Amino acid sequence: MAIVLKGAKLFDGTGKDIITDGVVVIGDDGKIDQVGKRQDVSPIKYDEVSYYDLNGQFLMPGLIDAHIHIGLQGMPDTYQENYICETSRAVRSVKEMEATLQAGFTTVRNCGTANKIDFSVKEGVENGWINGPRILTSGEILSTTCSGTEYFENLYRIADGYDEFKKASREQLKFGADFLKVMATGAIMNPGGIPGAEQTDIKELKAIVEEATKLEKKVAAHAHGAQGIKNAVQAGAYTIEHASLVDDEALSMMVDHNIYVVPTLTVGYLVLKYANEINVPRFMIDKTRQIRTVRVNSIKRALESGVRIAMGSDAGVSPYNYHGNNALELVIYVNEGLMSPTEAILSATKVAAEACDIASEVGTIEKGKIADMIVVDGNPLEDIEVLLNKDNIRKVIKDGKIVKNLDKESPCSIPQLTPYMEEDFPKV
Ligand SMILES: [Zn+2]
Repeated sequence: MAIVLKGAKLFDGTGKDIITDGVVVIGDDGKIDQVGKRQDVSPIKYDEVSYYDLNGQFLMPGLIDAHIHIGLQGMPDTYQENYICETSRAVRSVKEMEATLQAGFTTVRNCGTANKIDFSVKEGVENGWINGPRILTSGEILSTTCSGTEYFENLYRIADGYDEFKKASREQLKFGADFLKVMATGAIMNPGGIPGAEQTDIKELKAIVEEATKLEKKVAAHAHGAQGIKNAVQAGAYTIEHASLVDDEALSMMVDHNIYVVPTLTVGYLVLKYANEINVPRFMIDKTRQIRTVRVNSIKRALESGVRIAMGSDAGVSPYNYHGNNALELVIYVNEGLMSPTEAILSATKVAAEACDIASEVGTIEKGKIADMIVVDGNPLEDIEVLLNKDNIRKVIKDGKIVKNLDKESPCSIPQLTPYMEEDFPKV
């Protein structure tokens, strides 16, 4: 069934001005058929149509989180995750992905999951067993033998040397990975990781990129330190996750290679917010205190250099970083003075779609794209924090279907509105 949304305050995510009294026509194939001002809409060509009057509510592209971890919950002591079996984690993920969709996130890019359960969760969404977002999977995280990987059991696929990374990459791709994720440097969220230290060699990174490229897929490289960033860029990575300790050379390399950076500032924000809670691991608090200011400053420098920033929250991987609260990352961008609310929203729509390599399908409200969009009570371009409250996300539309609707009076019944609707949107 086709859908017509009318009376929208329409932000299409392309950079154009807001259209008041905007209309979007979604075809019965789930794609956007028309978008624009009410007076510019052509006659509706579909036999069965549901009409929704948004009465001035804000309509925007569905949000995209370019960095989450399915299977991790955001437990205050993240080591406790190891005591939950994989099947239980998969079951828990159902609720978490449903919460993510209810929060307005219609796409997530999963940057690593223990024992590849993300593939099953994705299958659940695609088969309609789970009312969740579109999921891009990476499977396990590719990593060298190094201190710290034991902290999240089975999250990492350990490999050493060119040949082993080839095989480890092929394993994830065989299961259907949409992209590959590698640890180019140490991590903050495990006790043994040294964030500034290089881990994977350029030759090993190239092995991963070669395997991904064969299937026209991309590589996301976890990299805090500057040398690790440079190695990943040189090897052909597509996105740099975190980019916490940049230098001028790393910044200019990222600009030259059209790299997207995914900041994940929620992690440090929440660790410091809950630093006095008894369960938050001491090493995380100490490491975060050492690196927090420079992390925020690195993203500021990246923006000033012209590096494109795609929103990513790292949901699940750190204390209190719960799935469904992903929009906190956008609030942090604005409150840290890194972005305007409009820029923050673009980082989670158009730019995130580019970083996830799906910009031809989603990310903006344009004719021919998949209809992923949300209806918001309030104007997030004026107050980004309206996105934090799930009650403000009135409708979620994914793949052209309404998958959340808090305004029960709609859809408007066609007979009731026939005189008005036929006048405004006559059928062919
Ligand atoms: Zn992560």
